[in-house]
Amino acid sequence: MSSDPMNSEELIRLSESRGAHNYHPLPVVLHSAEGAWVTDVEGRRYLDCLAGYSSLNFGHGNPAILAAAREQLDRLTLTSRAFFHDQFGSFVTGLADLCGKDMVLPMNTGAEAVETAIKVARKWGYEVKGVARDQANIVVMEDNFHGRTTTIVGFSTDPDSYQGFGPYAPGFRVVKYGSAEAVREAIDENTVAVLLEPIQGEAGVLVPPDGYLTAVREICTQSRVLFIADEIQSGLGRTGETFACDHEGVVPDMYVLGKALGGGVVPVSAVVADADVLGVIGPGQHGSTFGGNPLACAVGNAVIALLRTGEYQERARKLGAFLHTRLAELAAPRADGGRPAVVAVRGRGLWAGIDVDPSLGTGRQVSEALMRRGVLAKDTHGSTIRLAPPLVVTEDDLAWAVAQLDAALREL
Ligand code: PLP
Repeated sequence: MSSDPMNSEELIRLSESRGAHNYHPLPVVLHSAEGAWVTDVEGRRYLDCLAGYSSLNFGHGNPAILAAAREQLDRLTLTSRAFFHDQFGSFVTGLADLCGKDMVLPMNTGAEAVETAIKVARKWGYEVKGVARDQANIVVMEDNFHGRTTTIVGFSTDPDSYQGFGPYAPGFRVVKYGSAEAVREAIDENTVAVLLEPIQGEAGVLVPPDGYLTAVREICTQSRVLFIADEIQSGLGRTGETFACDHEGVVPDMYVLGKALGGGVVPVSAVVADADVLGVIGPGQHGSTFGGNPLACAVGNAVIALLRTGEYQERARKLGAFLHTRLAELAAPRADGGRPAVVAVRGRGLWAGIDVDPSLGTGRQVSEALMRRGVLAKDTHGSTIRLAPPLVVTEDDLAWAVAQLDAALREL
């Protein structure tokens, strides 16, 4: 047997032969990374324009995050919540303060945090609002993405997500995203919460109309319904503010956070709310062996410290404006009179959904062409390409990435 390291083709074959096929990765095998750039096993470098679906907002190998993780790794990594540990108090205090709320319930993955928010909202509905037992309903949005658990996929409107996984949990009402009127009409006396993404990421970076979040906030307040903002992908600097809700000055009753909270190192998620909401959960009623573990909290503390500086939000704001200006040029009518390859660009901050003319090719083909040109991005829903680079990316990187996109689209 050869002792040579395997090349990417061999590694892909090995991965595909025994790994379940629940993803369709681009054919690139990554080996190392720094900042906004990743390197594959053959030494080719790529600009990471996906950033682990916004889990790497602070960049690969962020020195402050790695230092916190290393220090903690050598000392204490797991206790379970059966005991206190010395990182927990500072983490929940720091995160609660960042959100302007009283309390934090830490979990691990995003889907778990969404499940937690659903449980909290139902219990709040029964114990505080006075909804009759097992009658609670939650208003959710068309084209939502909140994770992959059985309850969550049950209210997805994407057949790939839900088909074949029934029976589905009752208690959810799906309404059109972006219509406050639809939210108002769906609410009745048994409604305990409205759950939405302030910008729908997986749906293609769909930004709702101005005033939508404000109107939903007002409706929730008037109807005594909890407003749950799933900021797992939109939050923690991505859009140029700490939270996407901040763009309208809206404060939800519950923030659901994940992805970048773990600094690209470990899964860390959380639900953050005031004590009159989160206080409904008592000992033994909800939990997780790993949620709030010392390593997660140490990393989370480093992430919160980075966010407190405001530097990353500022980068996302400034660089995002640059990115969107450049992308708009790709969508503008062409000098030669030809149709632009880009039909629409949406987004906010360093986050863009780019609809490519479907007659030119699929989003997958565009992603593959970009990969060959040294840019890693992922398609979503047919012919949409999503760009979400780490917030440490530079203006030159972005200009180069957009030039590669332009060239890739001309190749099609
Ligand atoms: N909510 C939103 C808005 C997401 O974008 C995602 C993941 O993409 C999730 C929830 C689920 O997070 P996780 O994959 O960590 O379970």
